[in-house]
Amino acid sequence: MADNSTASAAETITVTVRDRSAEAPWGVGLTNPVTRKVVISAFCPVDGQRRGEPRGLNSCDDGAHYWVQVWANPCGHTDMYEAVIAEAAALAAQGGRPVSGTAAELARLEGGPGNTPN
Ligand SMILES: [Zn+2]
Repeated sequence: MADNSTASAAETITVTVRDRSAEAPWGVGLTNPVTRKVVISAFCPVDGQRRGEPRGLNSCDDGAHYWVQVWANPCGHTDMYEAVIAEAAALAAQGGRPVSGTAAELARLEGGPGNTPN
């Protein structure tokens, strides 16, 4: 029996991205990159074509090293991390696999204790 929509529509990928919203504002303390693993659709939100294959990328920002994943979509649309994080939150809210915590919780976990300036 043909089921041509639900299987592919529910297909997701897990990627590690940088969450700047969980980091200290510019000019406040040292750069402390916050990364998080999120679940998003395997397909481009604009045209529904399959996203590119994620690959790991070691990055360095102001001497702080971190590892994220990047991917190039064959359709040409660029996924910004902010949009990816928003998509993951929406996916979790509608019953997809939940993200592993709030941005603040993850910042605390990954940044260690004493990470809250105020
Ligand atoms: Zn696209």
